[in-house]
Amino acid sequence: MIVILKDNAPKDSIDKLLKQFEDLGLKNHYSQGTHTTLIGLVGDTSKVDIDMVKANEIVKDVKRVSEPYKAVNRKFHPKDTIVEVSDRKIGGGYFGMIAGPCSIESEEQIIEVAQAVKKSGANFLRGGAFKPRTSPYAFQGLRDDGLKLLLKAKEVTGMPIVTEIMSLSHLDLFSDVDVIQVGARNMQNFELLKELGHCNKPILLKRGLANTIEEFLMSAEYIMAGGNTNVILCERGIRTFETAMRNTLDLASIPFLKKETHLPIIVDPSHATGLTDLVEPMSKASIACGADGIMIEVHNNPKKALCDGAQSLTPEQFDNVMKTIKAYVEFEGKQI
Ligand code: PEP
Ligand code: MN
Repeated sequence: MIVILKDNAPKDSIDKLLKQFEDLGLKNHYSQGTHTTLIGLVGDTSKVDIDMVKANEIVKDVKRVSEPYKAVNRKFHPKDTIVEVSDRKIGGGYFGMIAGPCSIESEEQIIEVAQAVKKSGANFLRGGAFKPRTSPYAFQGLRDDGLKLLLKAKEVTGMPIVTEIMSLSHLDLFSDVDVIQVGARNMQNFELLKELGHCNKPILLKRGLANTIEEFLMSAEYIMAGGNTNVILCERGIRTFETAMRNTLDLASIPFLKKETHLPIIVDPSHATGLTDLVEPMSKASIACGADGIMIEVHNNPKKALCDGAQSLTPEQFDNVMKTIKAYVEFEGKQI
């Protein structure tokens, strides 16, 4: 981090500032040029509050030269993190194939879909019980009852389950859930992230609708800072000026994130596009970009789905897409 001082800063104020940095355990390189005076800070600057430094009256500007995230940073953890969920793995060459309906609607629906996606080769079952809907009048999910049905599907198929948490007050209900999803709308619900940092379950963290990659990584940092190292990132498209598709799938974020972080990154082409036809091509592209997994919405009767029918594949469509996905995953030298 580089701190640029204002001209004619009084010596005692400079000494006070240097002492503040020293107290944070940082070494400083003080350099007085003819026109500019700089302080170069060396050490772990992730805890430095830039705004507070900027607020100091002798400071002209502050520039970060290293990333504000540490735990998620590949610099300090070069090896890929492999998240283990019962006997399955995601990351470091292991590909997670997550499929299931947007929402759990009934016992028949979730079990039928679970059995179908398992048969096609998915190794995780998804399904929403608590649904973050834009309208308060839209179907909100079966909530506690939905979770019970999802657990039943887990029992019947043996598949680990992924489902979204929306409120900390529901955490006790998630004790038998294998992977807890934090949805796009809650990516910056910091109290939720902090609490999930203290639980021992893998967290699937989705990128916010309009969040930068740095903000995404800082949210993962919240979870890891609490001690939970099992974080899976999920790129699910972002808001842009384009309205033809539900979102714009930021494919470049995958190789970019791979360089920045050791955490596994999966892609959700269903929410990223909102269109069934685009699920297969975007899955192929994601795998080619280095994704460690894919999450796809599948419904036994998409036309009648209570949520996201337009982007949900039928089990038959999913079976076909899976054939392509398997070949692409194999080509990348990974295994489902
Ligand atoms: C979901 O996966 O069901 C979901 C609501 O996705 P997102 O949070 O990405 O919109
Ligand atoms: Mn959905």
